[in-house]
Amino acid sequence: MTSKNAVQQFDISIVGGGMVGAAIALALSQAGLQVALIEKQPVQEFNSQSPADLRVSSINLASEAWLSQLGAWQALEQMRLCPYQRLQAFEQPHSIVTFNAADIKRNHLGHIVENNLLQLALWQQFGANVRLFCPSSVTALQQSADSATLTLDSGEQLSSKLVVAADGGNSQLRQLAGIGTNGWQYNQACLVALINTAYPQQDVTWQQFTPTGPKAFLPLCGQQGSVVWYEEAARVKQLAALTPAQLTQQLLNAFPAQLGEVEVVASSWFPLARMDANRYYAGRVVLAGDAAHTINPLAGQGVNLGFADAKLLTELIIDARRHNSDIGSAPLLQSYQRKRKPANLLMMSAMDGFYQVFGNDITPLRKLRQLALSVAARSTMLKTLVARYAVGIE
Ligand SMILES: Cc1cc2nc3c(=O)[nH]c(=O)nc-3n(C[C@H](O)[C@H](O)[C@H](O)COP(=O)(O)OP(=O)(O)OC[C@H]3O[C@@H](n4cnc5c(N)ncnc54)[C@H](O)[C@@H]3O)c2cc1C
Repeated sequence: MTSKNAVQQFDISIVGGGMVGAAIALALSQAGLQVALIEKQPVQEFNSQSPADLRVSSINLASEAWLSQLGAWQALEQMRLCPYQRLQAFEQPHSIVTFNAADIKRNHLGHIVENNLLQLALWQQFGANVRLFCPSSVTALQQSADSATLTLDSGEQLSSKLVVAADGGNSQLRQLAGIGTNGWQYNQACLVALINTAYPQQDVTWQQFTPTGPKAFLPLCGQQGSVVWYEEAARVKQLAALTPAQLTQQLLNAFPAQLGEVEVVASSWFPLARMDANRYYAGRVVLAGDAAHTINPLAGQGVNLGFADAKLLTELIIDARRHNSDIGSAPLLQSYQRKRKPANLLMMSAMDGFYQVFGNDITPLRKLRQLALSVAARSTMLKTLVARYAVGIE
């Protein structure tokens, strides 16, 4: 039996077992590294009769390919996920730009998955190389030249060559490591509602742009779907306080006819923030996923960027281990930061440009977005390019 006072040794400690942290734990454990995973909330078991999780994500082809390699995608397929073949963008329902999977010679553009099921699918793959500390959180971080030590709320101490902070946008580890951030809160917030729809399972996700903000539909399994309604924060809070029946009525009034007959099952709201960590590592602590960057969810890229971080970081670590090098060395972490920070910033800035052009009613910008949508509607080449970029294969 290990005494609680003895320092426990691991190759790597990961704080946060959400989608990104769990994927990092799985990839590294499969390569033979000894991993400690610290998560404050247990993951819920799957129940096919229970309604979908309110938090859903659009997972692109690049993320799907990596998750398949890890064996988690196959587990998710045994639970619930919804592929979509078409992606539509429009301002007026009569001028819709449609991106088709066939345009990029694929049979789908992506999947809408429930966040808790993807997390569960990853956790189900953990073998003996992952030691789970859950429910648990960190109370202190100490760094030396060749290791980092975490103290948990249980009093246990874990020492490793590298600590990954994958504990989300409000990362406590990022603060303990002394890494600052840049960013702001957008004026808008978004309401997310799980709905039952009158249509059989749909193969299309769409987004309508209006001067007060976008309105989006994401298909889920069977006759369920998710809607995302972006509005000024005060209005979103008002909407979130309504009963499901009242919110259903508001949705039917505000959303385009494509939505059809719906009823709200559950809803919640989220503030919208942009955050970029000043650096992606400090000593032997490295950031991944939302702990490093949060992005406007407008184009559903957040966790896809997190998986791209996770894939590169784990490849660098596995390569270092293969060469018997230090898996927490500054050159390794520098190389990770050099590749991922500019890529994430580029996507964040593109989303901000999008938010500015599509989210207001200033006449020149209105004309610009009408022009952009009409050019996109006519140009097969442009549509193909956008679709390839959106699914993560460009
Ligand atoms: C409304 C909305 C819609 C979105 N839609 C999409 C989409 O369609 N596609 C997409 O790619 N992205 C989307 N995103 C973004 C996506 O949800 C995030 O990018 C993603 O959840 C980040 O994953 P993560 O694992 O980095 O962090 P999180 O999901 O935040 O996970 C962090 C984990 O760390 C744990 N934790 C936190 N603090 C501690 C602590 N101190 N100790 C131990 N554990 C801790 C938490 O319990 C959690 O399990 C959306 C976001 C919002 C708000």
